[in-house]
Amino acid sequence: ARKFFVGGNWKCNGTTEEVKKIVTTLNEAEVPSEDVVEVVVSPPFVFLTLVKSLLRSDFHVAAQNCWVRKGGAFTGEISAEMLVNLGIPWVIIGHSERRALLNESNEFVGDKVAYAVSQGVKAIACIGETLEQRESGSTMAVVAAQTKAIAEKVTNWENVVLAYEPVWAIGTGKVATPAQAQEVHCELRKWLNDNVNSEVAASTRIIYGGSVNGANCNELAAQPDVDGFLVGGASLKVSDVPSFIVPLV
Ligand code: 13P
Repeated sequence: ARKFFVGGNWKCNGTTEEVKKIVTTLNEAEVPSEDVVEVVVSPPFVFLTLVKSLLRSDFHVAAQNCWVRKGGAFTGEISAEMLVNLGIPWVIIGHSERRALLNESNEFVGDKVAYAVSQGVKAIACIGETLEQRESGSTMAVVAAQTKAIAEKVTNWENVVLAYEPVWAIGTGKVATPAQAQEVHCELRKWLNDNVNSEVAASTRIIYGGSVNGANCNELAAQPDVDGFLVGGASLKVSDVPSFIVPLV
């Protein structure tokens, strides 16, 4: 069985005080045990060590990006080696905001995922289509190409979580219907089966992201191929923070 995975992506948000408040809320939340749900929060780089030091030990932290190869003369970048050095176990790679705003290509994202994993940092690899792509019927072709670029480089799938985040659902309040999410997740699992192998297809967590909150998470979680969530806005709201974790089990 695939362990349910809930990630909170804080994006480029927060002050020290706000971050402390969210961590306090998380620390006080009554949630199922770590054996049942894996909870990971992803603050901006500058808050990673603070959050790691304050956060309960059954929850973990993720960086939101890292450099594609070994560190060096790459001003403004953070390397996978640094994440290892700080004891940061996870990193989000290829979020649609970075793909769109910073021109991260499928190949670049694939290289980043492979490098992070090779250094022992587990990757939450993001994929997803735009509204235009969905409406033109190319959703599966788009997410398959994104997944292929990752699969061409990654050998150790144990340390990869695939996050399906349709761009039209991110930050819009327009959550995918459970059927829409299930359809793509199921196709992605088939793709892994046909192009990687059956074991990777059966064991890789495919999580959904895009306007998930405490009110809509249960229906999504009930879909057989939805193995968790990557939550943006709701993971920053103290009132909503525990709600998308608690009702899951
Ligand atoms: P929202 O939950 O704010 O739609 O963001 C989703 C997301 O991008 C998580 O990575």
